[in-house]
Amino acid sequence: QSQELSQVRIDYHAALQALQQHGTRMVCTGKMHTDRVCRFDYLCYSTEAEEFIFFHSNASVMLPNLGPRRFQPALLDLSSVEDHNTQYFNFLELPAAALKFMSKPVFVPDVTLILNRFNPDNLMHVFHDDLLPIFYTMGQYSDLDEEARLVFMEGWSEGPHFQLYRLLSSKQPLLKEHLRNFGKLLCFTKSYVGLSKMTTWYQYGFVQPQGPKANILVSGNEIRQFSVFLAEKLNVTVGEQVEKMDEYIVVFSRSVNRLILNEAELILALAQEFQLKVVTVSLEEQSFADIIRVISRASILVSMHGAQLVTSLFLPRGAAVVELFPYAVNPEHYAPYKTLTSLPGMDLQYVAWRNTKEENSVTFPERAWDQGGIAHLEKEEQERILKSSEVPRHLCCRNPEWLFRIYQDTKVDIASLLEALRQGLTSRPGPKRARPSSIVHPGRVREPKCQTSVQATNEAKLTVSWQIPWNLKYLKVREVKYEVWIQEQGENTYMPYILPHQNYTFSENIKPFTTYLVWVRCIFNKTLLGPFADVLMCRT
Ligand code: UDP
Repeated sequence: QSQELSQVRIDYHAALQALQQHGTRMVCTGKMHTDRVCRFDYLCYSTEAEEFIFFHSNASVMLPNLGPRRFQPALLDLSSVEDHNTQYFNFLELPAAALKFMSKPVFVPDVTLILNRFNPDNLMHVFHDDLLPIFYTMGQYSDLDEEARLVFMEGWSEGPHFQLYRLLSSKQPLLKEHLRNFGKLLCFTKSYVGLSKMTTWYQYGFVQPQGPKANILVSGNEIRQFSVFLAEKLNVTVGEQVEKMDEYIVVFSRSVNRLILNEAELILALAQEFQLKVVTVSLEEQSFADIIRVISRASILVSMHGAQLVTSLFLPRGAAVVELFPYAVNPEHYAPYKTLTSLPGMDLQYVAWRNTKEENSVTFPERAWDQGGIAHLEKEEQERILKSSEVPRHLCCRNPEWLFRIYQDTKVDIASLLEALRQGLTSRPGPKRARPSSIVHPGRVREPKCQTSVQATNEAKLTVSWQIPWNLKYLKVREVKYEVWIQEQGENTYMPYILPHQNYTFSENIKPFTTYLVWVRCIFNKTLLGPFADVLMCRT
């Protein structure tokens, strides 16, 4: 076996003594199993039992100490997919004294990140579920550095994209199947278990139909830093200014299924429409590094819906993604790539095109179920599917109508595609110099004050004034506005105002001898909202 553990030498005797005396120590972050990552000293794994083991001693630490709630349903998610019941992590407990009766432990000296890959056969899953979360989980803990060891516990073999996982650290990742080569009892000197979900943007439809995650926490900035890291590891230089002369369109084709039947015609039409060269790539024909080299300088990426479109994250700012959907598949319902390209700061355009002509579609009812075959279904169900012009929303992952439709081949109707492009593209796509896009939010407005006066028994004035936020003097902001909310005390509605200056006198709807609550905040460029200053109590 090529997996060599002892690059870092450890004193075996001292390690064994530490384990026997101190047992296992665990300290986690996260309130729930879905947002938890745990750090362990001396977490062990029995390759016979295929279980992780926590050794109790007087000095062991278990935080959180959940008692039996540790099994409701688990301590944490071992993959980045939220609360998936095949991806749970837990451990067995033993007293450290039991070590005397067990095989001698083999110590893993590296700092280890232990996780499940979710679906290493599929490029979208590889990037979204594994590579990005691993990259940023490593970013969260300083000892998960270049030298860290990744351990994949999902039980799959390397898979077609293993080379990509290798780029994340200098050490060969270990698979579950490798672990038994080291012995019966393995003890990880220092390890982290679980993955940050901070970078994921899509949920695959296990409990509700698939769609963007409810609370997306990642922006294009972090995605692009990751893709630059990966491209550099692949010896691809990205982000270079491309000469106008060199601009081109990439058609990412699939050669096994979900084919574009008139690819040559499509290529000609695109070349003519944009007056650009068109090149094709496919996972079957080019190395990943070559594909990234091509995509990282492209103006437009055109492809059938499918995992290969995750390579959009290597496109230069300003480029466009054109995603083609087979007949009866509603693009709105399958939006992992639209969501990716639309993340703030990705600076990509996105256009979906959908085949609406059934005669331009080739179906494969006789294929295996997982390639979209429906011959195994009842006759009536087959007929219903064949008659339907749109797959209804459904849960993941084995809906036969969905698989049938998504694995159709498509003759792309050129006129309707060009029409979609003319409508959907807001500007000519092409690599743009990274503009220092304004992402800085205003600070609080300072020294908010109010002054009031009573004019008559039914007439009053309320003057509100404030100073600019502290950070504004260091910024060039195109448009600075202020928002003021005025609420009469005890009422549950308020009046919002957008104002251009630092003071304003309100007289409409202001009553004498009344207390108003007033909130003020600053807004840059219409969308960048600052925090409200402390509420003002203003009595007329
Ligand atoms: N794939 C490919 N060419 C093909 C069919 C599939 O490169 O003709 C790749 C695809 O990009 C993905 C994997 O094989 O990484 C699995 O494809 P599948 O159709 O199962 O998933 P999907 O692309 O719909 O997510």
